Amino acid sequence: MKKIAKKRPKKEDVRIRTRIAPSPTGPLHIGTARAALFNYLFAKHNKGDFVLRIEDTDVERSDKRFEKNIIDSLEWLGIKWTEGPYRQSERLEIYKKYIQKLLEEGKAFWCPHTKEELTEEKQRQMANKEAPRHVCEYKTKKIKSKKGIIRLDTPQKIVEFEDLIRGKIKFDTFLLGDIAIAKNEETPLYNLAVVIDDYLMEISHVIRGEDHISNTPKQILLQEIFGFSRPQYAHLPLVLGPDRSKLSKRHNVVSVDEYRKAGYLPEAIINFIVLLGWNPGTE
Ligand code: GLU
Repeated sequence: MKKIAKKRPKKEDVRIRTRIAPSPTGPLHIGTARAALFNYLFAKHNKGDFVLRIEDTDVERSDKRFEKNIIDSLEWLGIKWTEGPYRQSERLEIYKKYIQKLLEEGKAFWCPHTKEELTEEKQRQMANKEAPRHVCEYKTKKIKSKKGIIRLDTPQKIVEFEDLIRGKIKFDTFLLGDIAIAKNEETPLYNLAVVIDDYLMEISHVIRGEDHISNTPKQILLQEIFGFSRPQYAHLPLVLGPDRSKLSKRHNVVSVDEYRKAGYLPEAIINFIVLLGWNPGTE
């Protein structure tokens, strides 16, 4: 395979490109709408591009109905993407090349452990107050049988990144274990697909919810292995319920279309989500 890495351009030459990458596993969540709005505004303000990418590689959980709901809701809110929608399900051939490359280079391997074995291991680790992680003995066994899932032979190191909102973040990859990257050669998992797409789509800024912070070191590791440039990261605080837990179904109304059906105007929703977490400092 050809070398795919590009030289990282100087900061001032970088075209601003953001993205929103919803998984169509439910209707558009108000938190995703807020992340989409920030990406949209940041790209627009910098005369850049805003990409819509549907992350639908999980066939069991993805549903075309939800994809339609997400697209309709973004349109209703007036959050306009300038590129896309791309669908990961239409890009499987691309991911496959990268998965095969990692396998060929011995950087990834087949882990044949069953769900039950992994759960048991996790429970044992938790009982011993250890970080739950799977370091697989099969990576050294050179077994070529294609059973189980594909994992990265995770290099041990400290990953450091500068979050535009939260500042310096350090992460010891020891805690990650061997990262699951694909169900098989045709089916990448989230962290792998996202890294390949953010790179190929030349995303300059990844602006997303704080719930993804723990994925960032995994994604940076993969970027380093492929020789990809690193986007800038900004992790937004989550929209919380009155009990300060992440806004979820328990708090009733979480999807944009529910507000729409209840008669709220798109302008009111935009005004609410853009001002959430900020105030002018007056009464
Ligand atoms: N598909 C992921 C989600 O819906 C996207 C995360 C990301 O922005 O990287 O949560």
